[in-house]
Amino acid sequence: MAIQTVNPFTNKVVRSFEEMNDKTVDILVAQSEKTFTSWKKESYEKRAKILHKVASLMREKKEHLAKIITLEMGKLIAQAEGEIMLSADIFDYYATNAAIFLADKHLEPEYGSAYVRCSPMGVILGVEPWNFPFYQVARFSAPNLMIGNTVLVKHASSVPQCAIAIEDLFIEASAPTGLYTNLFISGERASALVADKRIKGVALTGSEAAGASIASEAGKNLKKSVLELGGNDAFIILDDTDIDKVVDWAVVSRINNNGESCVASKRFIALDSVADEFIEKFKEKLSNLVMGDPMDSKTELGPMSSEEAAVHIIDQIRKSVDAGATILLGGTRADRSGAFVKPTILTDLKPEIPAYYEEIFGPVASFYRVKNEEEAIELANDSNFGLGCSIFSQNVARAERIADKIDVGMVFINHPASTKADLPFGGVKDSGYGRELSELGIQEFVNKKLIRIS
Ligand code: NDP
Repeated sequence: MAIQTVNPFTNKVVRSFEEMNDKTVDILVAQSEKTFTSWKKESYEKRAKILHKVASLMREKKEHLAKIITLEMGKLIAQAEGEIMLSADIFDYYATNAAIFLADKHLEPEYGSAYVRCSPMGVILGVEPWNFPFYQVARFSAPNLMIGNTVLVKHASSVPQCAIAIEDLFIEASAPTGLYTNLFISGERASALVADKRIKGVALTGSEAAGASIASEAGKNLKKSVLELGGNDAFIILDDTDIDKVVDWAVVSRINNNGESCVASKRFIALDSVADEFIEKFKEKLSNLVMGDPMDSKTELGPMSSEEAAVHIIDQIRKSVDAGATILLGGTRADRSGAFVKPTILTDLKPEIPAYYEEIFGPVASFYRVKNEEEAIELANDSNFGLGCSIFSQNVARAERIADKIDVGMVFINHPASTKADLPFGGVKDSGYGRELSELGIQEFVNKKLIRIS
């Protein structure tokens, strides 16, 4: 993939960048390793100072940084500003809490005394996607830097200006050279780099194909990996809920980030008695969304991140319809230039239809009607993915009982899936393994060293 900014609102190439050659990458990896030898000895206070500075620079430059996000991948400008603020919160959160999370853990062995000390591991590689170009990098880099690791970031080829802007924040925060390093290389070269002995672990957020490639290299080279991949999250509507409120959440959960979110609700499963009311209102709200320029604050649905993404979604819809799916709304490109796809609802989906099991990364909702709670649980679990799930009911105890039976990494009751610095994020099954954020996220690339005193 060419490393370039293409504005998906116009599909015009804005700026292209040179891929780094092997010699440059070698120098940068060597610098990262060298910086690790001093960074691992720094106090938490010293590390925190740099991270707090990065956070405050982000807030200061919010408007400017948000515009780069919107230019490169089409996110609505208000959401891009929200992403910058969330990313700043993540840097502050780890800067403030890492020392507590990583404190010695004293054990009570049968004989003598013992404790577990958290030590850094070294250079960690992060392979990051374009859909939340600041947030994804923040949740990878902030915990690692506080541990005492140094990071190399291979960002998605479609967001090079975001990649540079993040690295620049570290330079402006007076981070030592080699603490945070941007690598302009292809995905394939990132996978190959995992074998480099100087790299001690790798985290990837992206597709299953990229995840499998990184994980197999990590496995072959006996290195730790963390994967955050796709999702096909269920949104379960029980028969005892306020449908108007649920419809509002359903729209938000499907079209936030123009539908390009791993943890967006994609399968809407309604109990029979409320299904008609839900689908009628859901369809109306989706059909009234204002499509347009993502830089315009009045726009409610922007373009897909790229022309290729829009073409792929239409292909998934077409193949699903050919296999028997029914389109309740949309199903085509919007009648305008740019990478737009109309809000779409598909129904009559069965396992042999692509949209039943595949993740559709855009404003496309699948609608299912079920007889009862048991059927809803069975359908929600009939997925290769296991990232998130939302359950709507006025009876929280009932929703909690259902939550217990859903095979995913995160369940949200009476709310769409969301993310915060202090809540763990991650999934099971084909959605990946390991966790990011919260106290759990900082434990992934740490050597938990036992010290035993006899
Ligand atoms: P990719 O998985 O291709 O991209 C994510 C990151 O992985 C990018 O940095 C990419 O680099 C890199 N990459 C690609 N191939 C490899 C490889 N073989 N080894 C190592 N790294 C690799 O996702 P796409 O952008 O192509 O999107 C495809 C689908 O993936 C989406 O439709 C969606 O289903 C899913 N996805 C999920 C995301 C999530 O949040 N979980 C985020 C993005 C996508 P480069 O850009 O240079 O190719």
